[in-house]
Amino acid sequence: MSATNERFSGPGPDQIYSDFLRKDVFSLPQCKDCHEFHFFPRVVCPHCGGFNLEWKTLSGKGEIYSTTTIRRKPERGGNYNVCHVTLEEGPRLMSRVDGVDSLDVKIGDQVTAVINKDGNDPFIVFVPAQGV
Ligand SMILES: [Zn+2]
Repeated sequence: MSATNERFSGPGPDQIYSDFLRKDVFSLPQCKDCHEFHFFPRVVCPHCGGFNLEWKTLSGKGEIYSTTTIRRKPERGGNYNVCHVTLEEGPRLMSRVDGVDSLDVKIGDQVTAVINKDGNDPFIVFVPAQGV
């Protein structure tokens, strides 16, 4: 393609998302037209089709929407949790809860986002919310 669309110049939404996480900031795009957040990050609002997006820092607060335990032998790392978390700002994402036995994660539990930087690309996991 020879023409360049200025609207889509620069790094893509996945790159921006990862760059924020590397700076210890959990941020997602919010649509300036319909005011909805979305995950995963996109260049077009999935709610209204708008292009007028703005990156906003999130509270990190969320609630367990669904949860399951993936069973593994202890010598292979033991059981782990896979869950869907509904963020306070609205989007829902798949993740896991660390710092608690996977069988103790319950629907409706309040959780807090933590940026995991163990691998090449940082990603979001959750821990039980304090004081709940
Ligand atoms: Zn929108």
